[in-house]
Amino acid sequence: MIRLVPTTPLTPEHDPWEPLFNATPPTYKLTSVEFTVTNMCNLRCEHCAVGDTLMLRDDEILPMELILKRLDEAKDLLTISITGGEPMYSEQTVKKTILPLLQYATERGLRTQINSNVSLPFSRYELLLPYLDVMHISWNWSNEEEFHNIVYAKAKQKVSIKQAGMLFQTMMDNARKLSDAGVFVSAESMINIRTHDKLDVLHRQIREMGCQRHEVHPMYPSDFARDMEVLSLEQVRAAIHRLLDVRDENMWMLFGTLPFFACSPSEVDRELILRLREAKNVTVRNDPDGRNRLNINVFNGECIVTDFGDVEPLGNVRNDSLSDMFARWQAHPINKTISCHCPAAKCAGPNLLVANAYYPETNFLERRALI
Ligand code: SF4
Repeated sequence: MIRLVPTTPLTPEHDPWEPLFNATPPTYKLTSVEFTVTNMCNLRCEHCAVGDTLMLRDDEILPMELILKRLDEAKDLLTISITGGEPMYSEQTVKKTILPLLQYATERGLRTQINSNVSLPFSRYELLLPYLDVMHISWNWSNEEEFHNIVYAKAKQKVSIKQAGMLFQTMMDNARKLSDAGVFVSAESMINIRTHDKLDVLHRQIREMGCQRHEVHPMYPSDFARDMEVLSLEQVRAAIHRLLDVRDENMWMLFGTLPFFACSPSEVDRELILRLREAKNVTVRNDPDGRNRLNINVFNGECIVTDFGDVEPLGNVRNDSLSDMFARWQAHPINKTISCHCPAAKCAGPNLLVANAYYPETNFLERRALI
């Protein structure tokens, strides 16, 4: 199998998905487009950030020529990401939507990522191997029983532990096979009420599966996850410290959507920021939503800043160019509330969900990095 993706390795120093990778705020560039390619999924996880939109059938997608024309117009593009639902759920989605997008990206030298639960037959993943840079998977369960409890929490039908166990094994096998095939497998764990005291176990499993990166994001209360208890800042902070104590320093760890900032009046927050900054092979990615990325729904053409926010669509690819819609968000009053930037701290401000969940009273525009 010949890999056709760019040869520059993805490393902590070279992360084209990072909003500040190629931008100098206040001017941001649209370097990343995320496609929602399906609303179907074989799982119903209790924390699903798009759970309310999941359906049993997909509509017809827009003409691929229109979608690719819009991408052609986006001159600053560096990456595309594919999400759902579960993008690999239907073979038709893989062949009719995902493959043309990945082939376009490869021809243009763009980096590519798919968010999948990697529980589908490997033959489906094999089709994508030549064109896929990053396989982004979720890893929030340390054994079959936890997996069963989490991924079928919102399912209408009963699924046995034995069936769940088989899927659990398939996920581990597929992650290993993808990694062996040269795909950069990045496993994401959420910090939530279930995982915060076992991130060390998840980290070890992720390493054993051959993943190249462990991504860690706190969970925020959107969609299905709105029913789950939100951790206190103290719990999130302690979980990150414990993980940093035991992690494998040779594996890249990427933290994202963190609720801790260099401008925090809290000394313990600033200590954590400093620890993350100095730790080997650790990066803290700035929030991409609307800073360098837009999300396109391939069914209705709507373009939004994030696939799990409540902001109205910025427009529609049927009528609007991506750059016009990106400019609309830059000028949007909601964006103005979180559009701070502290160059020395390499911080581009909070994510909207983070600000709403933990800092509803804070005016970030009046703050400055203290470290
Ligand atoms: S960019 Fe915003 S959130 Fe980040 S340190 Fe500065 S003021 Fe705080």
